[in-house]
Amino acid sequence: MSNVRTNCPTCGHAHCWSWEEAFDKFGFQDGDGLVMTEAVADTLRARGYTVTVTQWGLHNAIITDINRDGVALIPDTVTRGYDEPRKYLPKEVIDLLDREFRDGQRIDY
Ligand SMILES: [Zn+2]
Repeated sequence: MSNVRTNCPTCGHAHCWSWEEAFDKFGFQDGDGLVMTEAVADTLRARGYTVTVTQWGLHNAIITDINRDGVALIPDTVTRGYDEPRKYLPKEVIDLLDREFRDGQRIDY
């Protein structure tokens, strides 16, 4: 799990986070922290993926679907919000996210 940093516009401090939280129902402090799910989604969109983000009630907003050229990359067998994304995402997606959100990277809000 990588850790990146983002300066929070609300509290003014740097928040540490990892891209895996964008797939975790309880990520980003259960949605109460600085939620960076859209930043992760936008990184994928910029590379040609179609990404669906779903707000999970009072919890986190999570990435629920990723498509490329009409092909769904998150299998139906995945329990979204709970399963570990490194276990079900295609290697090319994991490699991209590890590269864009590598350890110590500063990410704009
Ligand atoms: Zn903050």
